[in-house]
Amino acid sequence: MVTSKSIKKLISNYSNGKYSHAFLVETNNLDKCLSDIKEFIKVLNCPHVFSENCNKSCNLCKLIDLNNLPSIIIVRPDGMSIKKNQLLEVQEKFSTKPVYSKFNVYIICNAELMNDSSANSILKFLEEPEDNIIGFYLTENKEQILSTIKSRCEIIKAIYEEDNVINEELIKIANNYLQSILKNEELIINKEYLLPLSLTRAQIEQIFKIIFNYYLDFNKGKYFPGNILNENILLSELTVKKQIVIIEKVLSMIKFNVNIELLLDYFIIEMRKASD
Ligand SMILES: [Zn+2]
Repeated sequence: MVTSKSIKKLISNYSNGKYSHAFLVETNNLDKCLSDIKEFIKVLNCPHVFSENCNKSCNLCKLIDLNNLPSIIIVRPDGMSIKKNQLLEVQEKFSTKPVYSKFNVYIICNAELMNDSSANSILKFLEEPEDNIIGFYLTENKEQILSTIKSRCEIIKAIYEEDNVINEELIKIANNYLQSILKNEELIINKEYLLPLSLTRAQIEQIFKIIFNYYLDFNKGKYFPGNILNENILLSELTVKKQIVIIEKVLSMIKFNVNIELLLDYFIIEMRKASD
């Protein structure tokens, strides 16, 4: 279900025949925004009358959901930037008319991470738009978007309410997870506990934020009931400081297209090293 009002409006404008070929979407939640944009792409391409149930009954919508339709390309940063060759690849794949759906659509996540040369390689799409190609540039940081891109896109805002209420369940998971790490359990905690819970990237990020706050409070000597670090007075000051740096690093990496399993294993290994 589309939750952003402005993306809802975009959808109704498209069905009225008013449309742009490139959008700069400013958002505060990339995951939610991407999922709304995907709904929009389904509406555009669905060969049936689109409905919320399309995911189950309609092949095309199902493929869009699974990121498996060749005419929809999602570009995520490769490391800390969006590389020129990633965009050249999009150009090449979209040099022919769409075969699988009505539109060829590319979505660039964290578009602020494009540099001049990667932006130049996509400029053709923006300067000589073709009817059957639509581009979305998603960003949480509009100020850092190159002006060559900004000036050629329709700019829309998709702002979501922050999930202020941290889910009780996530707190419980964060506590269990941290407890096991403090007990020096092996990597198995990821495989046997965290991963089977099938959490989203955003939920895992939330768990790390909870753990991060525990560490910050503990480091400042603040006592809050429920902070399980309070029960681990054996943690040395140095260990706490080192572990804060590790958690911070994980929180910054989780935003990029890193493999979650590898990231979690990295986390456990580094946390253990820091406590030796
Ligand atoms: Zn459909």
